[in-house]
Amino acid sequence: MPVTNPEYRAIARSHIMNRKVCRKCYATNPATAKKCRKCRSPELRMKRSNKK
Ligand SMILES: [Zn+2]
Repeated sequence: MPVTNPEYRAIARSHIMNRKVCRKCYATNPATAKKCRKCRSPELRMKRSNKK
């Protein structure tokens, strides 16, 4: 469901950017996480931010 209000969209985007995604199970984790909360894999990456 797309967010139409540009202000809300900016907020939503910044929240999404502050997350890490597990490379194994693709669960989102907090930016401060060292391990995945689901599978406990340490292989986390930041979500891509330079998307149009
Ligand atoms: Zn995981």
